[in-house]
Amino acid sequence: MSTTNFCPMCNNLLYHKEDRENRILFNVCKYCHYKVEADNYCVYRMEIQHQPNERMQTLNDAATNPNLPRTKDIPCPKCNHKEVALLPSTSRREVGTNQSFACCNRNCGHRWTE
Ligand SMILES: [Zn+2]
Ligand SMILES: [Zn+2]
Repeated sequence: MSTTNFCPMCNNLLYHKEDRENRILFNVCKYCHYKVEADNYCVYRMEIQHQPNERMQTLNDAATNPNLPRTKDIPCPKCNHKEVALLPSTSRREVGTNQSFACCNRNCGHRWTE
């Protein structure tokens, strides 16, 4: 997802190097020690913040997560609440096959897949 950069001096691949003290990301060349401040800092921040458990966190907070799309067309089969969240598929295999839902009723939180 991050753009690939090449060293303008020797055309080798540039590597990301973090200056932890100043919280700056550099693109560095291992061969000629060319070094430039990375301009795609946003990408870098996203990579750092994307922890392995982030996805689980999203799913656990489904009922209260405002970032998830919601629908009022499908009532919860358990409590009949009129607003449910559409959960992202849990694996690539499931894309286009089943849609998972989570009830937005905090006291219910029922989840199901159709
Ligand atoms: Zn170089
Ligand atoms: Zn419910």
